[in-house]
Amino acid sequence: MSFDDPNDVRFRPEDGCPIFSQSLEDHIVAVSRGGQPNAGRFCGNCYTPIGRETEMCPHCRETCDPEGRSGRAPVDAVPGEMLEVLRRQRAIESKWVNSFAYLGIVIAAVTGIAIVLWLPFFRDRLIWATLFYGVYLLIGSRVLPAILGGYYGDRIGFEKARAETRAAWDEWVVERDQPHASNGQSSMTKA
Ligand SMILES: [Zn+2]
Repeated sequence: MSFDDPNDVRFRPEDGCPIFSQSLEDHIVAVSRGGQPNAGRFCGNCYTPIGRETEMCPHCRETCDPEGRSGRAPVDAVPGEMLEVLRRQRAIESKWVNSFAYLGIVIAAVTGIAIVLWLPFFRDRLIWATLFYGVYLLIGSRVLPAILGGYYGDRIGFEKARAETRAAWDEWVVERDQPHASNGQSSMTKA
């Protein structure tokens, strides 16, 4: 299951954590796949990709003053830590989606057998029973994983992953503002 289908509008939380905007997620995915260098101009707060002339981040509304006179100065690369946070978020999400999808297949297989054994009609009618089970499995193993994985797995996985991302973000915000990490901003953004 892909998260990058442009038609797939994902549930977006309003929880005060600015990570990740869709354009930042797209950028990191492209970087991870080696299709794009991790370079450009990014909001100094939420790392959303911004244009040369952008004065205010469209995602978190941080001022994008190059001198950092107000707000955080834009950066020229997304910190490696944020790449790792997104990688972990997506790993958790797909784990839940896939687990629920497999559960759907198991349920289809088991309920199919149960119906065949339970309905008196299928007794002594092996061909009909086989035929029914084949069709039931064919449909059930598509529909159930789509419902369980695509809906429930996606919801639950997103909540779990989002909680980790929020925690990582809170930690990151504290860490990047620590005075002794003054060399961190430039060295980490080059990562
Ligand atoms: Zn921003």
